[in-house]
Amino acid sequence: MSEFDLIQIIRQRIGHSRGDVVFGIGDDAALLEPPLGRQLAACTDTLVADVHFPHDATPEDIGWKSLAVNLSDLAAMGAQPAWVLLSLTLPEADERFVERFAEGFAELASKHEIALIGGDTTQGPLSVTVSAFGFVPQGQALLRSGARAGDAVFVTGTLGDAAAALSLLRGSGLGTRDSSNEQARSELLQRLHRPDPRIFSGRALRGIANACIDVSDGLLADLGHICWASNVGAEIEADSLPISQSLRQASAPELCRDFALSGGDDYELCFTVSEENAQRVAEAFSQLDCGVTRIGRIVAEPGVRVQDANGNVVEPPRRGWQHFAP
Ligand code: ADP
Ligand code: MG
Repeated sequence: MSEFDLIQIIRQRIGHSRGDVVFGIGDDAALLEPPLGRQLAACTDTLVADVHFPHDATPEDIGWKSLAVNLSDLAAMGAQPAWVLLSLTLPEADERFVERFAEGFAELASKHEIALIGGDTTQGPLSVTVSAFGFVPQGQALLRSGARAGDAVFVTGTLGDAAAALSLLRGSGLGTRDSSNEQARSELLQRLHRPDPRIFSGRALRGIANACIDVSDGLLADLGHICWASNVGAEIEADSLPISQSLRQASAPELCRDFALSGGDDYELCFTVSEENAQRVAEAFSQLDCGVTRIGRIVAEPGVRVQDANGNVVEPPRRGWQHFAP
């Protein structure tokens, strides 16, 4: 297998094309025709073996997730994804690995009509970099900086599942004998390996949300980014956090809360909405396949604080994931 054979495999398996791709894989650069009147949202994310996925993760899951984390960033901007670039670094020219990787990648790409327009293939320790591009109507992108004191804070779907799955994989358990519940286990693992980027939610929030971010590093950390960018603070009601049935079944209650507050890899959207727009949220989500929950509010005083139903301060164990953290 040469580099070019591998590129051929990828090209055949991730074959979706689009009218706005004048020329895709095969020349020195792709040639694209962005739609008039739209702004281009662009992002990139790298996944490194043993840092972002366990080295024994299936190639299909690595393929899916490397695309999903990028689509999640576009979703958080309210953008409609269109094009992706894929840079693959492989320890060896493993044909079967590339086929299976491409299968997982293609499954998600075709679901959202995304075209793979190019990339790079090199040898080295396993790592995957995807760059994604999407469109958003002029001036309608959802930024981190738009939150205002008095806004309601919402989150899509459920929080903490992926962190709980990671804890299971690391053998640290979930503080309860029920963590052996097979169905709950497999649902949690599915959330970790196959995150579902909230593209439809992000689009539906254009014109409604003041600020938005995707929850990749943990709710407290990511809501903290909105607060920092908007120069405000937030108060979260610990008891209102959306926790999935599987997490409740598999994990001790106090751990559920920690996973939901500080666990990474959820890829839900956290967003803020003015009080006037708050009732439009339920309406916007009535057509969508994920839930939405109000979890707190934006305040003037900086910082993110968590309290329980009695108004007592909840101190979470750690505040999200950071590379290079001491
Ligand atoms: P160059 O040497 O000009 O950079 P390459 O040999 O790296 O060209 O790539 C040839 C073509 O294959 C280019 O169009 C490039 O975008 C595409 N390509 C290379 N690797 C990948 C990949 N992993 N996924 C998709 N397209 C790829
Ligand atoms: Mg190249």
